[in-house]
Amino acid sequence: MRPRGADRILTLDATRIVDCRGIRRDPQANATPLVADLLATGRARIDPLRIGLDIAPDCALIDAQGRPEPRIRVIGPASRAAFWEITAIPDIREQAQTLATELIRQHASA
Ligand SMILES: Cc1cc2nc3c(=O)[nH]c(=O)nc-3n(C[C@H](O)[C@H](O)[C@H](O)COP(=O)(O)OP(=O)(O)OC[C@H]3O[C@@H](n4cnc5c(N)ncnc54)[C@H](O)[C@@H]3O)c2cc1C
Repeated sequence: MRPRGADRILTLDATRIVDCRGIRRDPQANATPLVADLLATGRARIDPLRIGLDIAPDCALIDAQGRPEPRIRVIGPASRAAFWEITAIPDIREQAQTLATELIRQHASA
């Protein structure tokens, strides 16, 4: 990680990563380093209309072979290929709450 305006790179040990850097018009051409790496290594793919990442109805990222990866979830505008109306904050808020509730349920039953 490089803090804004700094030259130094920080290395952090992390259990979970939340990438909140948004998504731009062409999700592949303008990919953040994290998304570019997921695409390059086949752990993600662009949806057929090239408007976002390909994801499953439960927000799991779909890999290059079409398999959902439940450890990587995508919400907000980055999930617009699956949900389309997911740009306004009230929609994102509801989606985030639904996913958080599901993750807590899974964690509790694990
Ligand atoms: C013009 C406009 C008007 C809108 N009006 C409304 C409205 O009235 N009501 C409504 O509900 N929604 C509105 N929206 C939609 C809503 O603002 C967006 O869908 C929402 O903000 C997306 O949230 P996000 O967290 O995915 O991304 P963003 O809000 O885009 O957040 C991404 C953040 O990451 C930061 N960032 C990017 N790269 C880096 C980096 N390398 N290092 C550090 N930080 C980085 C950016 O500076 C930015 O702050 C509007 C959108 C636009 C463009």
